[in-house]
Amino acid sequence: MFFLRGISRPVRIMIGMGLGIIAGILCNLIFNPATVQDLLLIRLFGIGGTLFLNLFKMIVVPVVLVSVTLGVVSMNKPELLGRIGGKTLFWFALTTLLSAAMGIFFATVFKIGHGTTISLPQDAGVKLSGKVHSISGTLTNLVPSNMFQAIVESNMLQIIVIALILGIALAKVSSQVPNLRIFLNEVDTLNLSIVNLILDLAPIGVFCLLAHTFSCFGFRVLLPLSKYIFCFLGVSALLMFVIYPALLMLFAKISPVKFYRKMFPVMLLAFSTSSSNAVLPANITTLNGKIGVSKNIATFILSLGATINMNGTAIMQCCATVLIAQLYNIPLSMAQIIEIISMTLIASIGTAGMPSAGILMLGLVLQSVGLPISGIALVLGVDRIVDMFRTVVNITGDAVTAVLVSSSEKELDRNVLNNSL
Ligand code: ASP
Repeated sequence: MFFLRGISRPVRIMIGMGLGIIAGILCNLIFNPATVQDLLLIRLFGIGGTLFLNLFKMIVVPVVLVSVTLGVVSMNKPELLGRIGGKTLFWFALTTLLSAAMGIFFATVFKIGHGTTISLPQDAGVKLSGKVHSISGTLTNLVPSNMFQAIVESNMLQIIVIALILGIALAKVSSQVPNLRIFLNEVDTLNLSIVNLILDLAPIGVFCLLAHTFSCFGFRVLLPLSKYIFCFLGVSALLMFVIYPALLMLFAKISPVKFYRKMFPVMLLAFSTSSSNAVLPANITTLNGKIGVSKNIATFILSLGATINMNGTAIMQCCATVLIAQLYNIPLSMAQIIEIISMTLIASIGTAGMPSAGILMLGLVLQSVGLPISGIALVLGVDRIVDMFRTVVNITGDAVTAVLVSSSEKELDRNVLNNSL
C-alpha cells in the first residue's frame, strides 16, 4: 500500500474499506454465490482478514490486563474506584435499556414481521455454532476459578476482574514492589507501540475483511429482511445522531461533531472487524490521545464496555425478538415486553465483544418470553452484516460513557479534543 503514503490514517482505512466493499460486491456478482467462498482469491481475502483480526486479538489481553491494573493502582482509593464504577454502570444500564426500549417500540410500531415472506424453521432446535448462555452461567463466570485459564481463553470479563484484584493488591504493597509498577508502565508503553504497528496495517486488513464478507454475502441476502434491517438501522441512527450527541452536549459540554470526527477511524475499524474487543486498543488510544479522556478512565471504562455494554446488540436483539414473535403470530404482552428489555440488559453483559456473539445471546432473550429459539435461524443469514453496524454502535456507546464519566470526574482534558488533529 505504498501509494497510500502521505495520506492520513483514517483516510487510508476508508480507502481500504471502500475498495474492499467494491471488490467483494463485484466478486459476489461475478462468481456463483454458492461456491464463491471456495475460490482461491476469496480464501486469500479470508486469510488476510483473519490475520489482521488475530493481530488485534493477540494484543488485547496484554493491553487490558496491564492498563486496567495500572489504572486501578493509580486510582488508589477504593471509594474513587467505586464512584467511577457506579457512574459507569449507571450510564451503561441507562443507554442499554433505552436502546432496547427504542428497538421494541419501533419494531412494534412499524410491524416489521408483517408482509415479510420467509419460510419459518420447522424444527424446535436450531443448530448454532456455539452455546446459548444462561443467566446463572453469565453471573458465576464473572470470577475465574483459574486465573491463567481466563487469560489463555481471552475471557475478557474475567480478565477485568483479575486486573481489578491485581490493581487493588498492588496498590496496597506499592512501596514494597516499586520496580513492578515501573515494569508494568514499560509494558504498557510497549503495548501502545504494538497497537500503532497493527493500525498501520489496517487499510490492508479492512480491505481483506470487507472483500471477504461482501463476496460471500453480497447485498442480495439483505432483501427478504429489509424491514428488520431498516428498523435496526433507523433506531441505531437515532441513538448515534440524536441521543449520544444530546448526552455529550448536556452532560460533558463537548461538541458531538468533534467527538465523531476523532472517533471515525475507530468506528470504521469496528465496522470492518465486527469486534468490540479487537478495536479496544485503538479505542483507548483515540479516547485518550485525541479526545482527552484520562488514560485510567479510558482503559477502565472501555475495557468493561467492550464486554458488558452493547447498545447496538440490544437494539438488534429487541428488533429480532419482535420480528420473530410477529412471524410466528405470537402476541407480546406488556409484561413480556418488560421482560425482553430487562433480559436484553443481562444478555448484553454476557455477550462477548466478538463477531456474532450477540446472535447467540438472542437465544436467552427469546427463551425468557417463551419464543422459539429456532427463530434465530430467520435472522442468521443477515447477521454478519447487521453485526458490522451494531459493533459501531456498541463501541461508540462505550466511548460516550467514558467521556461522560471523565467529564464529571474532571478527568477530561478539553484542550486535547480541541487541538489534536
Ligand atoms: N460483534 C459485537 C461486538 O463485538 C457483539 C455482537 O455480536 O453483538 O460488539
